Amino acid sequence: MNNPHHTPQPPQMNIDFSQTTAEKCEHCENETFVQVYQMRKLSALLSPTGQETMIPIQVFACVKCGHINEGFLPKGE
Ligand SMILES: [Zn+2]
Repeated sequence: MNNPHHTPQPPQMNIDFSQTTAEKCEHCENETFVQVYQMRKLSALLSPTGQETMIPIQVFACVKCGHINEGFLPKGE
């Protein structure tokens, strides 16, 4: 039953949506988002392969205006 190779999943919770808040676009207050990728470039000097490496980072962008909320960006930006 327990598969050790199974990818860990966050525990399923019974979420009370009255205790959640809608995340809105900081720019236009729209509440729907699409998955997009930001591309980060790792310089050849720092890359373990010695070659310039592109690293895709998944973030969410507002459907309406394309704005990406600061809270959706990886930390350290
Ligand atoms: Zn927006």
